[in-house]
Amino acid sequence: MKPALITHADCLAHVGTSGYQEVPDRLRVVLTALENMDFLRLDAPYAAREDLLRVHSSAHIDLMLQTVKSDEIIDLDYDTALDSRTADAALRAAGAVCLAVDGVMQGKFKQVFCAVRPPGHHAEPEKAMGFCYFSSIAIAALRAKQVYGLARIAVVDFDVHHGNGTQEALANVTGTYFASLHQHPHYPNTGQDVDIPNIRNIPMPAGTSAQDWRGAFEDKVITDLHAFKPELILVSAGFDAHKDDPLGAFNLTEDDYAWLGCVLSKIAAKYCAGRMISVLEGGYNLDALSKSTHAYITGW
Ligand SMILES: [Zn+2]
Repeated sequence: MKPALITHADCLAHVGTSGYQEVPDRLRVVLTALENMDFLRLDAPYAAREDLLRVHSSAHIDLMLQTVKSDEIIDLDYDTALDSRTADAALRAAGAVCLAVDGVMQGKFKQVFCAVRPPGHHAEPEKAMGFCYFSSIAIAALRAKQVYGLARIAVVDFDVHHGNGTQEALANVTGTYFASLHQHPHYPNTGQDVDIPNIRNIPMPAGTSAQDWRGAFEDKVITDLHAFKPELILVSAGFDAHKDDPLGAFNLTEDDYAWLGCVLSKIAAKYCAGRMISVLEGGYNLDALSKSTHAYITGW
């Protein structure tokens, strides 16, 4: 069965915040890197309001969806702003992951890569931050739980930054497990080891080697996943732990992402009938991002 690639042109139109690294070219290089791979290619729909409401308040949704004039930028945070295309792009990023859940649950495909921007894992239920507006992966996890009745959903976040928004959305939610392996201390200054039964934070220092990163992944996340026996794996796939990334200080190469893609898809094959949905989060060196995304998918 072919893997699916879900994306949308609005992801390229959303400007983001000028002066920051979360730019349309990120997606352009990813799509170019995946051009010759054999995917079922799907267009991302808009997320439904009822899906957004599984994580976010009505007030937050309305703030994100307000009308913005074509020449206007509305700052929400020091690095997160609304332009006239942000709402469409953020809705389709969340919609992509919801469509991915429907597709894997209906047996249309098993492996999915959602090539979308803006990213989502920093967006908290009531707050846009860190280039993120809607918590796409948590929205998808709760759709899988509430619409399809899954009892064990794992979310794995390997972006170099802690998935604070995902943690906020899923902490203490029965039937979900969230693991984040990230640089700490570092933006957003969350991600310490916490005493929440379904949250596994693995903070690691700047300069972490590929060997230590792989070891922590094996010892903690993979061990947890064997115990949890997920029915679905959702992956916040950020590639900013690459050694060349300007926003992180880990020392990974694309080979480490190929390794991880392989390791996670083996878990998915063992427990989830192969169901694994990966969503693009960070990754800000364009060359490293395109090579890493390609390597990660090649590892499946
Ligand atoms: Zn990141």
